[in-house]
Amino acid sequence: MAQKDLQEEKGIEKMNIVYRTLASIYTGVFSINLTNDTYDIISSPKSIISMLDGITSAQKAINCAIQNTVSRDELLDVLSFVNLSYLPKKMEAEKSLNIDYKGTISGWVRGSFIVAERDSTGRLTQVLYVYQVIDEEKRKELEQLQQLKESYARTEKEIELEKQSLEKDKKILADDLKYQNSLSNVVMEQLTCGVLAYTIPGRHLLEINPEALRIMGWKNIEEAAEKMETNWKNVILLNGVSEENLLNLRRQEGSVKYQFMINTGEGNEKRILTESKSFVGRYGGRIIISTLMDITHIAALEKEKNVLKGKNTLLANENVELQRARDAVYSTLNAGSYLCTYAEDGESLLSIKFSDALRKLYGYSNEEDAPNTWDMWLKGAHPEDREYILNRYMSALRDRTGNTEYSAIFRAVKKDKTIRWYRAVGHVIRRKDGTAEFLYGLIMDVDEQKKSSDRLEEALEQTRRANEAKTSFLARMSHDIRTPMNGIMGLIDINDKHAEDMAFTAKNRKKARVAADHLLSLINDVLQLSKLEDSDIELTETPFNMLKLLDDIFTITEIRAKDNGINVKKNEDDRIQDYPYLWGSPLHVRQIYINLLGNAIKYNKKNGSVLCDVSIEKKGENHVSVKMVIKDTGIGMSQEFLQRIFDPFAREHEEMTGQREGTGLGLSIVKQLVNKMNGTIEVESEVDKGSCFTVEIPFKIAAKEDVIHIEEPEETGNVEGKNILLVEDNELNMDIAEVLLTDAGANITKAMDGQQAVDIFAENKSGTFDMILMDVMMPVMDGYEATRCIRSLAREDAKEIPIIAMTANAFVEDVEKARQAGMNGHLAKPIKVDEMLKLIGSML
Ligand code: ADP
Repeated sequence: MAQKDLQEEKGIEKMNIVYRTLASIYTGVFSINLTNDTYDIISSPKSIISMLDGITSAQKAINCAIQNTVSRDELLDVLSFVNLSYLPKKMEAEKSLNIDYKGTISGWVRGSFIVAERDSTGRLTQVLYVYQVIDEEKRKELEQLQQLKESYARTEKEIELEKQSLEKDKKILADDLKYQNSLSNVVMEQLTCGVLAYTIPGRHLLEINPEALRIMGWKNIEEAAEKMETNWKNVILLNGVSEENLLNLRRQEGSVKYQFMINTGEGNEKRILTESKSFVGRYGGRIIISTLMDITHIAALEKEKNVLKGKNTLLANENVELQRARDAVYSTLNAGSYLCTYAEDGESLLSIKFSDALRKLYGYSNEEDAPNTWDMWLKGAHPEDREYILNRYMSALRDRTGNTEYSAIFRAVKKDKTIRWYRAVGHVIRRKDGTAEFLYGLIMDVDEQKKSSDRLEEALEQTRRANEAKTSFLARMSHDIRTPMNGIMGLIDINDKHAEDMAFTAKNRKKARVAADHLLSLINDVLQLSKLEDSDIELTETPFNMLKLLDDIFTITEIRAKDNGINVKKNEDDRIQDYPYLWGSPLHVRQIYINLLGNAIKYNKKNGSVLCDVSIEKKGENHVSVKMVIKDTGIGMSQEFLQRIFDPFAREHEEMTGQREGTGLGLSIVKQLVNKMNGTIEVESEVDKGSCFTVEIPFKIAAKEDVIHIEEPEETGNVEGKNILLVEDNELNMDIAEVLLTDAGANITKAMDGQQAVDIFAENKSGTFDMILMDVMMPVMDGYEATRCIRSLAREDAKEIPIIAMTANAFVEDVEKARQAGMNGHLAKPIKVDEMLKLIGSML
């Protein structure tokens, strides 16, 4: 083929491409020559082509097509629109004319005349008649495309522009192939969507515009031609389009709209929207024309949207997590939540909701078990607490100032009928006018806390009672100490004034002694009790004669009873004769019995009686248990008082016991002593009828020899002519001791402290003193130290001389301390003459 022919051939092919591009836009394209009323079909559905078979007149052909495809109503309008004789006039100043009409076949259609050629006078000689279906589907498609973002919309506009420019240049196209070639080049170049045409088979590139090159990432037409022919291996089809759909385009005319991903080699993935249409080529092969649109950024936006959607789900998940965490917190708190919603009046309940955790707390499993109703939950509350709960609840709701929160501690009956303590708290959320809108709160199981705080309160109450007893005791002590003290002092004053009246002063001295004795016993009781309360202190045991002890206490009791006009009856078990010798603390046993018998007399009524029943029970090989039951017909005690009868300082109503002397310490001491002896004490009593005390104490059996061996000589000590070193820092005490001893015939040497005593003893030759009476607490050197010094002196009598401690500390450990310092005996102050002489006598 000649070079020129070749060029022409290429030109024609390009022209065809332009026509095909038009054909891809319009349903039908006709070229009409107005001068000779002839026409050419550039593209049209087959049905129209066959309809026009044999018609050569353009007017006839167009009329025929219109009559067959336009609805009746619009037929006349459309026929007048397509009247070719008026057309040159109508289009004198127009480049195109449009009409929309309803077609009988495919819905709405837009028909357009486009100027193709004018003669030198400007009269229209050649037009294009094009039409396109603009029914619903088409419109939807356009809408969708528009939605894909501005750029796509811009493309639409570009296509529109292209169409317009194509229309504009129809005349030039018809005139000059070369010109048309360049025009098509311009159109293609300016399109903002990519256009790509190639043959099938072979994939020979026919046309590609710069946008298509850019989209596909090809540098130039040569690279495009090369890449087109090899397969696009890296294309991934999207939107449900399969390769099969595309392959169909090779076999039949049609179009496929799809998206595909392409990797342009710069590590960037692009998403391309495309439409491929296939046509039968001039030489029998097929041509595919594809329009390409880069929608990567739109896809990115969509992706972002999905990410946001994902974030929303994340947030929702987080919310669920938070709820779970909250539930976990509630369950560790042993709590569950509830929410009430109220109507405008702030009281009428609209809804109530309880969490499953709360149901669990009450022993229920789900909503069927325990529904969300106020009734169900109020009924769950303990009947005694319902009114209280309601009051608290209503006052929280009704306090429009919001100062009152709902809070209540109450008992509820669980599903299994057990009763536990719960604490409800609630916060009211109010409307502007103060009415309650919501009540949100928690109910917690506080059973353990409540019970332990009750226990604490009980303990507190006990402490308070003990304190009260102590306070009243102190008041009493102060009274009890002052009374005998006043008495003693008053009597001394009186005696001073009546010194000459011997009989009168002797009587007063006797009274003063009684008062002083009472004072002493009061002090001794307090000291003894405070000692006994120390659990480490143990009673020392010695063998003793129980029969003799019982005889002694009954003698004392009988004297006392007689003084009070009370009748005492003793009932002694004969078996005591079998085990008279026992191991124990006789002084303390005596104290217990005397105290109980004393009370039975003291708290008796006029002409009342006391029955004392003693029995003995053998326990095992070496032990017995002695039981004493003391029953009186006295004033008795209330049941309430019996609960605390052994509390220190406790005395039944003052109005009853007030006149009777006492400290309220006797029974506390008895109880402590009995405990220390591993015994038991019980009491029954009725006001106005009398009381009954039962004491049972276990003893180890002792041998007769043990008891006889330790029994003390009864005779009074003789100090006549003895030389005694008297060590005492207190002048009054020194005077008393001096008078007592001198009166008994002893010779006294005085030392005012320990150091003086040591000096005097050391200065005098061995055998000067027969005994030392040593105070313990003294300035310069105390009695223990002085004793140790004397004992360490290197002289004959230093080791042997009896040293007797005189101290106000009368406890067992004081005695022990004195012994360790090297002392031989112990005298408790205030010193009693008989006791002192007896002890001294036993040592000399
Ligand atoms: P005191 O007799 O010094 O008051 P107690 O400790 O011996 O102290 O007794 C405490 C209280 O118990 C008495 O004050 C009295 O109210 C009551 N009480 C003790 N024994 C009897 C009894 N046999 N009958 C009636 N009340 C008694």
